[in-house]
Amino acid sequence: MKYYSTNQQAPTASLAEAVIGGLAPDRGLYMPERIETLPTSFYSNIDRMSFHEISCRVAEAFFGEDIPQEKLDAIVRDTLAFDTPVVPVKKGIYSLELFHGPTAAFKDVGARFMARMLGYFISQKGDIKEVTVLVATSGDTGSAVANGFLGVPGIQVVVLYPKGKVSDIQEKQFTTLGQNITAVEVDGTFDDCQRLVKSAFVDEELNRHLNLTSANSINIARLLPQSFYYFHAYAQLKRMGVADQVVVCVPSGNFGNITAGLFARRMGLPVSRFIAANNRNDIFLQYLRTGIYTPAPSIATVANAMDVGDPSNFARILELYGKSWERIKGDISGYSFTDEEIIRCIARVYKSDSYLLDPHGACGYLGLEQGLQSHETGLFLETAHPAKFLGTVEKAIEGTVPVPETLQRFMAGVKYSVPMTSRFEEFKDYLLSRK
Ligand SMILES: *Cc1c(COP(=O)(O)O)cnc(C)c1O
Repeated sequence: MKYYSTNQQAPTASLAEAVIGGLAPDRGLYMPERIETLPTSFYSNIDRMSFHEISCRVAEAFFGEDIPQEKLDAIVRDTLAFDTPVVPVKKGIYSLELFHGPTAAFKDVGARFMARMLGYFISQKGDIKEVTVLVATSGDTGSAVANGFLGVPGIQVVVLYPKGKVSDIQEKQFTTLGQNITAVEVDGTFDDCQRLVKSAFVDEELNRHLNLTSANSINIARLLPQSFYYFHAYAQLKRMGVADQVVVCVPSGNFGNITAGLFARRMGLPVSRFIAANNRNDIFLQYLRTGIYTPAPSIATVANAMDVGDPSNFARILELYGKSWERIKGDISGYSFTDEEIIRCIARVYKSDSYLLDPHGACGYLGLEQGLQSHETGLFLETAHPAKFLGTVEKAIEGTVPVPETLQRFMAGVKYSVPMTSRFEEFKDYLLSRK
């Protein structure tokens, strides 16, 4: 399968080129040239298939031409070492829990898959011995990528994060790992970290000495595997007998997660429509209302993994719908919620339904409450474990939240990071010195 750039100014790429390159040379995002519709027999049998079987079939539709089946199945098996259960919350509303992976957020799925696929392509190529993955993080991406890539041969990971601006638990998830993971603690903001990474990618001298790549959500190998759990969720709803009119609500920041859902629907997954739930960063909602896309600086909120003022996957959504605002509006509606609404929702749902939401999942839940009709089944994506946002959640419910063992283990680890200023020359020297 070939991959083309959303900017249409770059040659098409092979899967290996798209995965190793990340962004297309014209700064566009890669899209698969074809999206296969899965046969009706797949959908009529799906409730009798395991998560692994379902995912292998979906993976084959995307990657079957480029990776031998045995290898692809192994990558899928390795990636999905945990479940993504659908849990009823109240009448008509179900939670798709995506926080049972090693770093307790949905990004584990995409990061683990991409790490293994990249590892495979490096092992196949004689000319590349080692790739250095650079990733700037404001929290969750760094932890998912670092843990997803931990111990994968041929890959070094450098995580840049703003000093003092990520939570303790997030910091511990990428500073305590060792092996092929290095954390760089930048005396600056998240934007500084991103600037350092971007400058590194275009620096000629660095690119002569190192094979640099990114692992952010624009990478096609992180995006597409996120469709697996939409199919698996549908299978579970079908088993419960409530899969007729499914509406999926996705708490969205960079819109990678919802884009994977839109791919699933394009492959025939019977989902009626989608809702994109935003925090106060509501660029997409404004687009739905006006047809005009206006990026803005991000605003800090309690659902901070969605504090995005220029969602990078918007270009892919446009592409999926032939750039038609009408068609996009027909399939996706949107809502945005303030910090107070999010916190009140966490408290209310905990009290009335004994279900503990994290601030992102709360946006998803609220989106369904606002947008669901009585004949529909609502599924929201619970994208992180509430214990990852302990301060906000404990304040909301006025009680303590038990921290899962996986997260506790990180807290017990010893932090190691490389201190750095926000000057590019210093970061560049550091990267060269690692050679
Ligand atoms: C990254 C993240 C999101 C946003 O996902 P996108 O794919 O960027 O839209 C939502 N919730 C949590 C917990 C996240 O980590």
